[in-house]
Amino acid sequence: MPEELALTIEDLDVRFGPVRALSGVSLRVEEGTICAVLGANGAGKTTLLRTVSGLNRPQYGQIRLNGTDLTSVPPESLIRLGVAHVPEGAGIIGELTVVENLRLGALWRGDRSAAATSLERTYELFPVLRERSAQPASNLSGGERQMLAIGRALMAEPRVLLLDEPSLGLAPLVTRQIMQLIRQLRNDRGLTVLIVEQNANSALSIADHGVVLAGGRVVLRDTAEQLLGDEQTRHAYLGF
Ligand code: ATP
Repeated sequence: MPEELALTIEDLDVRFGPVRALSGVSLRVEEGTICAVLGANGAGKTTLLRTVSGLNRPQYGQIRLNGTDLTSVPPESLIRLGVAHVPEGAGIIGELTVVENLRLGALWRGDRSAAATSLERTYELFPVLRERSAQPASNLSGGERQMLAIGRALMAEPRVLLLDEPSLGLAPLVTRQIMQLIRQLRNDRGLTVLIVEQNANSALSIADHGVVLAGGRVVLRDTAEQLLGDEQTRHAYLGF
């Protein structure tokens, strides 16, 4: 069988007691593409991302990356397989400096020179993080925090980036800037990106494909272009 270069999610069921957060969710994200996961509050978007990164365990279904089964890999091992998760709210540590937060992303690698190269690459992508490297992360603006969270994930040199609501709480101009950076990562580094967003318009502006979740099920999937172009779909599912 040829090597499968994709993130494949098959028939995923996730329950929290009586709550069926995901039911029969299947999704395939080709290598080097961006897939937007859209849907209203409580649709199951965060649960999907957390399940891919091993933070939630499915009752049923499978997740594979390039043919490797990720379903029972512990979350801390996933990064070694090339999957980095940027959680909602970004999860950075305000008391640490910017560079300390970044270095946390490469701690597990145990290779100082590789980490130094990744740090340089991260600073090239986000010059503002270099300027503010010695400042506590708590001093950063919302957009800079999001850049720091993405930068920290990139310190692991991942192949797959899982992004949970990167636009949360950001002004439209800053959101656009973050989205363009994500698109740049796909174009320049061939990263595979699964991005969860309530801001469907922003996410679809950089995505290749999109899926819409409702009540834990996939109710719509198409190219980003089709989803953006179809007025009925936009009104019915995407709220713009
Ligand atoms: P939001 O945009 O508000 O984060 P979402 O689409 O990401 O929404 P999820 O957070 O994945 O939705 O939640 C899906 C469903 O699962 C909701 O009904 C939620 O209440 C429930 N849920 C999520 N996590 C848990 C948990 N740890 N325990 C119990 N129920 C949960």
